[in-house]
Order: sequence, then C-alpha cells, then structure tokens
Amino acid sequence: MKDIRSFTKDELKAELAALDMKPFRAGQIFDWLHVKGATGFDEMTNLSLVDREKLAGEFDASPLSIRDVQISSIDGTRKYLFLLHDGNMIESVLMSYKHGYSVCISTQAGCRMGCRFCASTLNGLARNLTAGEMLSQIYGIERHAGVKISNIVTMGSGEPLDNYDELVKFIRLVSDPDGRNISQRNITVSTCGLVEKMRRFADEGFAVTLAVSLHAPNDDIRRQTMPIANAYSIDSVIDACRYFFEKTGRRVSFEYSLIKGVNDSRQNALELAGRLKGLNCHVNLIPINPVKERSYERSVRSDIESFAKMLEKNGINATIRREMGRDIDGACGQLRKRYLDSDTQ
Ligand code: SAH
Repeated sequence: MKDIRSFTKDELKAELAALDMKPFRAGQIFDWLHVKGATGFDEMTNLSLVDREKLAGEFDASPLSIRDVQISSIDGTRKYLFLLHDGNMIESVLMSYKHGYSVCISTQAGCRMGCRFCASTLNGLARNLTAGEMLSQIYGIERHAGVKISNIVTMGSGEPLDNYDELVKFIRLVSDPDGRNISQRNITVSTCGLVEKMRRFADEGFAVTLAVSLHAPNDDIRRQTMPIANAYSIDSVIDACRYFFEKTGRRVSFEYSLIKGVNDSRQNALELAGRLKGLNCHVNLIPINPVKERSYERSVRSDIESFAKMLEKNGINATIRREMGRDIDGACGQLRKRYLDSDTQ
C-alpha cells in the first residue's frame, strides 16, 4: 500500500489520473489529510463512495499507532513511542514553550551514524522513514494531545540528511500553505555534519534553521565520540555552515553536549571559540544525558557555566539549554531502546 501522506498535490493528481479520478480531487484529498487531519478515506465525505473505495484499495491513510506515552511530571513534556506499520518503533517528543508547542520528530528508525553517547544508534539503522511517517508523528501528537504544533525539530532518532529525499519532501509538505502550513522558519534540521548533503541542502532554498552537532572543539576529540568525524574534518563541517549562511542568510546553531572530562574544559571552550570566530552562529550547550550502555558522565554545573562564559567572552553566543522531560527517558532513543530490549528478552 502506498503511504498517501507522502504525496505532494501534483503527485496526487498523477496518481488519481491512473485511478480515473478527476484532478481537482487531489486538492480535496490533500486538505482532508493535511488540514482536517483525516485518518481514513471514509471521513472524506465530499468524495463519492466509489472514489473512496478506489482510494482505500490503493493507499494507506491510517495513523501511526501509539504504543506508549510518558508525561513528565516536571514540565509536562510528553514522549510518544509510535509503532510503524512494519513493526518498527520510533520516538517523538512534545514540548510546551511560552511561544507554543514544539515537536521533536524521528527521521529514521534507528541510526547508522554511531555517535557513542547516543542511544538511537545502539542497534544500528532499521530503515528510513517516509515523509508521510514524519508528518504522521506530528498529526498523531496533535490529535492525541489536542494541541496545534508551531515548531518542529528533527532531533529524534536518525540522521535527517542520511534520508535526504524524504526529509526534503517532508519540509515541502509540512510547510505547504495548502497543507499543514508550518512556517519553514520554525523548522530546525539537526545533523551530525554530512558535508556534501549540508551544501546540497543549502541550495534547496529553504528558510529553515540548520543545527549541527559539533560536540568537540577539534578533530581528535570529535573522533572519540563521533565516527562521522573520520569522514569529515571539523573545519570542512564549519565551512559547509558558512556556505549555508551565505546561501540562506540563516544563522547556524551548533549543538555541544558536554561530557565530563572529554570536551568540557575552559581550554576546549577557548579552542571552540577560535574555530567559530567570524561565523554567524549560536552554540547550544547541553549537559550529556548518560546512556546506560555507555560510560560517559555529564559535566558538573560549574564547568558548564564557565564553558558558556568562556565562549561569550570570546564573542560566541551561547545558551545552556533548559532540559525538558528529564524524568521520562530524556535522552534520544532511550524509550525505544528500552522497548526493543524488552521485546527481545
Ligand atoms: N542525527 C542528528 C539528530 C540527532 S539527535 C544529529 O546528529 O544532529 C539531536 C541531538 O542530540 C544531537 O546533537 C545529538 O548529538 C544529541 N544527543 C544524542 N544523544 C545524546 C545524549 N545522550 N545526551 C545529549 N545529547 C545527545
């Protein structure tokens, strides 16, 4: 069955022609799926019964099923575990901020980037998600929580740029003015730094924010925690960020997870500031979330604060990120991992 949420309006028109349906129906179906949030063809009451049956024979419009929801008693953050139609599982997170609701979606089931502090990669990559599955996380959460989402980050499981075509399609679909119409300015794509893909992505002309997971001030330290650093030097990643800024005029964000004794010294901060000098950017500092399979520990508060001060003193904007949902398997992939483990036991 084809995943109907993955089709753009033009693609839908072509699909409908093959079913002998009128092209204008594409707009109606698109509206049902992306504006009204329909989860089945029987809801599409302005289509004839015959058309609805034709569609149901060809396409899948069902929602993702929710396997588990954990709600933080600290800040109300909700973590969703979705079951995909083929039995794979993914996580998404709903966070509430002053400016609205933000959702963190997965772009792949699992991940093959191998970052040593990250739980999503422990079992490798299961498969890429379709654009429709990325949308279905958002629609499923909106329906379940009864909220409208205004911001999206791709910081769930997976490396978005390793699933390039579906990611690009997802951005087009979710920001389509005739669809869910979420502003591209409110979308953040987070990557571990796939240099060629970052450059290609800059050329797409999206107004999204690019967040790059740096986590180190130099190649030696980066290679200890991120295998991708063997393929791309930190300077080539930063050059690609410069290119992204030149092309889009959008300030780049860097993610820097602080690991005790690995990347959190004042000297590390100074080196990082030197590397980023002259680039229009912002550094988000995140105390690492310890994953039980790994021995990394989070930095102590005073080291985090002096790291941030050192960056600021050297002209680099930095924020210590407020942590959300610490009590509900906060770190990426932990909830899914727990389920995978219990399923195989
Ligand atoms: N593949 C994308 C998205 C990954 S998740 C990327 O690499 O950017 C989003 C962020 O969380 C990344 O910066 C990732 O490095 C970070 N992250 C993963 N596990 C973490 C952990 N245990 N503690 C803190 N940050 C973590």
